[in-house]
Amino acid sequence: MSVKTRIGKLYNQFFLTGQVPAADIARLNNQRVLIIALVLIPIHLGYIIFFWLTNQLYAGLIFAHGAVLIIIALMGLITLNLRKNKSGDTFIYHNLAPGLAAAYLLFGAALYVLDEPLIAGINPYLIASIAAAAVIIMKPGFAAFIYGLTYLALYLNLPLNQLHSKELLSLRLDGAAAAAIGLGLSLMLWRINALNILQKNLLKRQNKLLQKQQEELNHMARTDMMTGLYNRMRITEYLESEIERINRTGEESSLILLDLDHFNEVNDFYGHPNGDIVLQLMAGVIKGQLRKTDIPARFSGEEFMIILPGTSLEGALRVAEKIRQAIEGCTFTGKMEDLHMTASCGVVPINQDQKATSDSVYQKASRALSSAKSKGRNRVEAAC
Ligand code: GH3
Ligand code: MG
Ligand code: MG
Repeated sequence: MSVKTRIGKLYNQFFLTGQVPAADIARLNNQRVLIIALVLIPIHLGYIIFFWLTNQLYAGLIFAHGAVLIIIALMGLITLNLRKNKSGDTFIYHNLAPGLAAAYLLFGAALYVLDEPLIAGINPYLIASIAAAAVIIMKPGFAAFIYGLTYLALYLNLPLNQLHSKELLSLRLDGAAAAAIGLGLSLMLWRINALNILQKNLLKRQNKLLQKQQEELNHMARTDMMTGLYNRMRITEYLESEIERINRTGEESSLILLDLDHFNEVNDFYGHPNGDIVLQLMAGVIKGQLRKTDIPARFSGEEFMIILPGTSLEGALRVAEKIRQAIEGCTFTGKMEDLHMTASCGVVPINQDQKATSDSVYQKASRALSSAKSKGRNRVEAAC
């Protein structure tokens, strides 16, 4: 690996430049531009008014404050507009804040050149360097460029004030220190912000994944994996809330308990794996006869439970008969060509009854089902 690529790799590793989404940086920066505008507009206005009222008509200073005031007001307006239109991923969206930082550095450098003979002890370039670094997140390369460029401008323009060579050297050294402090701070804060954004994004992704896994687990815990219908746990929960709803509203619902006849023989003749296929097919047949609001479940083995919300006993008996006929009418192919499936059903109404529980409703349905079995199977019986 060449020295250049090695340095490039180290640079990317340290500053995480390739990994941080530019949109996240731009979003954070643009939020800040508005706040900066709100804070700085009155300050610049104050300076201009102060210079004006005290008759300190330093045209250069008033001009510099005025220019930066216009720039920051414009940028504030543009950010407001970006927010309103929710526009992202444009050149302006990404470069507004770094542009503001560059403008302030230039402003600081200009004040440093214009102001130095007047206000000793205050270094506007140092203030601008630190403020820009602290508030705006800048890409390391961009930061190096604008700190270097503004320092160069400052270096070249300082002699405009006709200073002695010793003073000039001292001011240039102060300027260099200000640029170095600003750049150092900017690079440090870039890395901190980049790490922060990456960690936040990682957390967001992990949270999403966890949520998805949780949903899948919830689904699995309540679904019968073989047929895709609800399992016993889920239908029991439904039944309990249905009993509660009926006790509250006085509505009537019904429940069908369906058991495939002589299923043991299916396994014995065709093998357990074929038995599984038949179970899946039967689940499909049952589902095909129901409304969207009905709730079918595989309750256990070859026993299915169906809740029919808002359906009377008569209606449920008709549905059970339809399912029974559909199962009886099923034809199979291949090895199971000769298979004839039938099913027996016990149907029970769920009426207003404060003492009713999921278990008591199931027991009633189970008795009706046993009666259907004992009366010869392939039939539907209502609970008495
Ligand atoms: P009945 O008409 O009295 O209901 O007779 P049956 O043979 O259906 O009843 P029994 O309860 O004796 O047998 C139920 C059979 O269902 C036994 C069991 O092996 C089979 N079974 C239960 N769960 C599954 C399953 O997931 N896959 C397969 N292939 N068979 C199953
Ligand atoms: Mg059976
Ligand atoms: Mg059974």
